[in-house]
Amino acid sequence: MVLAKRMQTLSESLTIAISSKAKEMKAAGIDVISLSAGEPDFDTPVTIKNSVKEALDKGCSKYTPVPGTAEVLKAISAKFERDNGLKYEPSQIITNVGAKHSLFNVFQALVDEGDEVIIPSPYWVSYPEIVKFCGGKPVFIETNESTEFKITPQQLKDAITPKTKILSLNHPTNPTGSVYTRDEIAALGEVLKGTDIIITSDEIYEKLVYDVEFVSVASVSQDLFNRTVTINGLSKCGAMPGWRFGYIASPINELNAAMKKLQSQSTSNISSIVQAGAIPSLLGKTDDDIERMRREYQSRRDIAVNLINEIDGLSVDSPKGAFYLFVNCSKVEPDSMKFCQDMLLKANVATVPGVGFGMDGYFRISFATDIGSIKKAIARIAEFVKTYK
Ligand code: PMP
Ligand code: GLU
Repeated sequence: MVLAKRMQTLSESLTIAISSKAKEMKAAGIDVISLSAGEPDFDTPVTIKNSVKEALDKGCSKYTPVPGTAEVLKAISAKFERDNGLKYEPSQIITNVGAKHSLFNVFQALVDEGDEVIIPSPYWVSYPEIVKFCGGKPVFIETNESTEFKITPQQLKDAITPKTKILSLNHPTNPTGSVYTRDEIAALGEVLKGTDIIITSDEIYEKLVYDVEFVSVASVSQDLFNRTVTINGLSKCGAMPGWRFGYIASPINELNAAMKKLQSQSTSNISSIVQAGAIPSLLGKTDDDIERMRREYQSRRDIAVNLINEIDGLSVDSPKGAFYLFVNCSKVEPDSMKFCQDMLLKANVATVPGVGFGMDGYFRISFATDIGSIKKAIARIAEFVKTYK
């Protein structure tokens, strides 16, 4: 048997591979603490659970239109207006099986062989893989701590070529927690003026920001609205990762029609029950739960940042969003894969090597786990670093 050529360059998601390995070790009786997965430890809010029960009782078990039911699309449209000041018609919205599926669909619909997709680095592991799978070429813009891991307008200008099709943005950013200000977004938008470049803006961590305002990319100017495809979902802020609820919105109706056609030949509609269950969250009825979780993440962040910075050889800046610390370990070990593998085997702490996000000399820890485990894990990391050879 010979697999399709497009499978030969596709790698498995490193974040998923490591968290699965940690789960396997735990099942084998090893006392592993996993700070690897970007998965909220909080349970889904009770309002959502009740709404699913109701949906089941009402017999909500039929196929729905491919993009989603009229109710869920209206609820998403209302969410964009309420949270982001964005006006998308329900017909400009499509629900997907998680935001990863949203990204997969938009890249499939837009990227041709040889098209370039600009990706700020460090990046979330799946972006370059999906782009390559579609035949595209990821073009990375390297960032570092000096700009809080954010790209500058000049860097963007320098990265654009006649082949550039998409600028792939994600903020709050996985893995660095960067959050762009309104002015920074506007300045990037200025560089794109007069071009046909589309922005994909992955805003899945939008509500997890600390001491700063979140600004949706499409909301900054009419020009940005016209060229932006906004991607969001309930896995992170809604504490619903296993539900697989993502969505995509854009005013580019030709693109929307293409993505609906593509989805009509793959998943069809996403689960009817999940759509019904998600509605209260989209209507803001779980905002108190989300705020409670956000505050808890913030307090964990503060504790974890202090503890990491007390370790000789490691350093981290406090992230403004999401639930990750991107820790500099280059003074101890520049080879992040080796460092994280050793840490998993010797200290039994699972983290993700920076190389998977395009930046060696760093590793990512997730603070979407209880504070007791975070403290215990960082104490183990401290001991591991002290004796590291
Ligand atoms: N985008 C980013 C930046 C993420 O970290 C994740 C987490 N998996 C996703 C998209 C996909 O989320 P999901 O498919 O669970 O909605
Ligand atoms: N986004 C999460 C992470 O970065 C979940 C795993 C994945 O889908 O990659 O860990």
